[in-house]
Amino acid sequence: MSADPKYKRVLLKCSGEALMADGTTGIDNDTVERIAAEIASVSRLDVEVCVVIGGGNIFRGVSASTHGMARASADYMGMLATVMNALALQNAIERLGIETRVLSAIPMASVCEPYIRRRAMRHLEKKRVVIFAAGTGNPFFTTDTAAALRAAEMGCDVLLKGTQVDGVYSDDPLRNPDAIRYERLDYMDVLSQDLKVMDASAISLARENNIPILVFSIQKPGAFSDVLTGVGRCTIIEQRKEEKTGVLANG
Ligand code: UDP
Repeated sequence: MSADPKYKRVLLKCSGEALMADGTTGIDNDTVERIAAEIASVSRLDVEVCVVIGGGNIFRGVSASTHGMARASADYMGMLATVMNALALQNAIERLGIETRVLSAIPMASVCEPYIRRRAMRHLEKKRVVIFAAGTGNPFFTTDTAAALRAAEMGCDVLLKGTQVDGVYSDDPLRNPDAIRYERLDYMDVLSQDLKVMDASAISLARENNIPILVFSIQKPGAFSDVLTGVGRCTIIEQRKEEKTGVLANG
């Protein structure tokens, strides 16, 4: 680590797929341990860390609903899947000696705490890693939207989206070698060009609350802390400076 972190309170959005081993589904222990180590190393830098975990490695509501299941029921199953991922991650982080709390948007008293905003804030002040489970608690939403929502509620300085690649590209770089990588984007670029980073409601929520989004590779060891200290590779999505200050390009 070469520099101090640039942010005090951050939220990491990690998709469920990030917990799978290559070519499998479900939860891979070694992969969970690796991600837990990334989170622990950032927490040790005295950064307050929130995590929103997805559930796509176990169950996705949209896919089940295309096979005839009621979308709302399928989405509730998807939200339950995120709780399983949250518990796996909690366990792995605590084995590294970092205190954590799982807060679920769907109350599950014997499994974890219910989501209560002020309680979550208190945990963060006590330097506990807070893992938000069950998305927004509502069907027809995604954990991307939950991430933007919790980042706004917790007053996070930045939202980090951990993906399989080191930023936002014009096309899937794993399939198209000519895909262009962006260094910096405005929220509106992501929306108007329909870049597949996070869904539109998540981007809009981050934009309305002026929360920058850093897109980076969760697969690269050390990337989470590197991005926070400004030495890692990522794409920054934020409002363009001229819009922030109200200065028009033509004077
Ligand atoms: N989900 C939901 N409401 C939410 C968040 C998630 O209904 O607020 C459901 C939805 O069915 C989704 C599943 O949970 O498909 C898993 O979440 P997501 O697809 O966002 O996970 P990821 O792609 O990040 O692994």
